[in-house]
Amino acid sequence: MKENYDVIVVGMGPGAIFMAYEMTKLDKNKKILLIEQGKRVEDRNCPIEKIGKCVKCKPFCNITSGFSGAGAFSDGKLSLYNKEDEDFYVGGNLHKYIGVEETKKLIDYTDKIYLDFGADDKLEGTEYKEEVGEIKKKAKKQGLTLIDIPIRHLGTEKAHDLYKKLEDYLEENNIDMLFETAVEDLIIQENEAKGVKIRNVKNKEAQAQEIYGNNVVIAVGRKGANWLVDMCEKHKIKTEAGVVDIGVRYELSDEVMKNINKYMYEGKFIGRPGPFGDKVRTFCQNPSGFVSSEVYDNNLSLVNGHSYKDRKSKNTNLAILVSHHFNYPFDKPIEYGRNVAKNLNELGNGNVVVQRLGDIYRGKRTWEEELKTNKIEPTLKSAVAGDITFALGYRTMTDILQFIRQMDKVVEGFANPENLLYAPEIKFYSNQVVIDERFETSIKGLYSIGDGGGMTRGLMMASASGVQMARNLCK
Ligand SMILES: Cc1cc2nc3c(=O)[nH]c(=O)nc-3n(C[C@H](O)[C@H](O)[C@H](O)COP(=O)(O)OP(=O)(O)OC[C@H]3O[C@@H](n4cnc5c(N)ncnc54)[C@H](O)[C@@H]3O)c2cc1C
Repeated sequence: MKENYDVIVVGMGPGAIFMAYEMTKLDKNKKILLIEQGKRVEDRNCPIEKIGKCVKCKPFCNITSGFSGAGAFSDGKLSLYNKEDEDFYVGGNLHKYIGVEETKKLIDYTDKIYLDFGADDKLEGTEYKEEVGEIKKKAKKQGLTLIDIPIRHLGTEKAHDLYKKLEDYLEENNIDMLFETAVEDLIIQENEAKGVKIRNVKNKEAQAQEIYGNNVVIAVGRKGANWLVDMCEKHKIKTEAGVVDIGVRYELSDEVMKNINKYMYEGKFIGRPGPFGDKVRTFCQNPSGFVSSEVYDNNLSLVNGHSYKDRKSKNTNLAILVSHHFNYPFDKPIEYGRNVAKNLNELGNGNVVVQRLGDIYRGKRTWEEELKTNKIEPTLKSAVAGDITFALGYRTMTDILQFIRQMDKVVEGFANPENLLYAPEIKFYSNQVVIDERFETSIKGLYSIGDGGGMTRGLMMASASGVQMARNLCK
């Protein structure tokens, strides 16, 4: 390991990986170091697959940490765009910094890298324009917008292989990588980034070490959102109040979702149901998929979902998320989300809680016995039957129930009483880190990319933000 780098990157999610990849193309002489608290991609595995329950891997959850970050076990749905669209509706706000047309070009370029490393060249959601048009019309009548964009689906197990190839490529091209090493602090002097303080996570007794670099890029994803909040407070990095997305993972039969699954693979519906008018959206839809759980900071168990290319269930799962903003006098969206998650975990004895939709309408909890005969068999076996309405706020709950009613008029059976709601599904973004068009923060030489600082919200945009970061640094 060298002592002085041109660029140090915190995290090894898609943002960091694609930044390093692009650096190898633009300037082979630059000395780059990537630092990741989790493991190499080939050493990451989630025991839930084998033993059916989350064991809260220490020191870090294998689903969210390690080479390729939250991307390794993600379903690998790369959200592309429609040529005729004048804006981006999913994936984040990269286009706000570099413009819509430039973002489209960047996504084409990044998609090509995914293809070069083994992504399937088939695109989902491009064949059935007429059928999708009909669903769009129905949605519009209910006040819902349907976003249909082409999706490239890697599949969880294929994503692993693809990222392994990228890991090998970066090593072969002299990118230094430190695994199982946490960045504890940033070294900032006179408002300029100078390096990072790191510590080996396997040896708590080990001394913290300082590494210096001319530029430091923060690419810590949602997993690092907490750490980033602390860094912003400590080093006075400028932020603005962000958003927290709170909701449920909804599981229903493939049969009900068959048209959406067939025509689009993933239908992204957005609404603003009354009386609050909050933004409610579906996200991360997994046909014939499996609900999963992941562990975040402070041991919080959150729900998520994925689907495999080869292994199938009979259920589709998707997130229904409500965006909540806070500014005055309370301006801590992460804190709010964490409290909601904590309460739900307590109700579930440390686990995700699952409840039938019909039980919510009936005003009762769900019992484990009732799930055994429920038509929709839960795919997350570690979820505990209970009552999510005790912990999800009135506003969030009302938004979700109202949205489900609207969706039922677009997709018959969407409000079937036997459908399942798992909670908490929460997307933590750090308070939005203020960055300029080169992604530089208010600290000279300190940059922020990907999901962590709030710029992106998905694999493709996070990856593309990395490519652009490399270009910014090489200009
Ligand atoms: C189960 C699941 C399914 C998903 N499915 C999809 C999908 O189908 N499509 C889609 O577009 N998106 C999906 N996502 C979201 C997607 O994975 C993320 O948007 C994307 O990975 C963000 O990339 P990133 O580089 O910003 O951060 P991340 O991928 O989160 O990587 C950040 C990395 O930084 C590391 N880190 C954090 N703090 C520190 C520190 N202090 N020191 C050292 N390392 C640190 C973390 O361990 C992590 O490995 C899914 C996510 C999950 C969890």
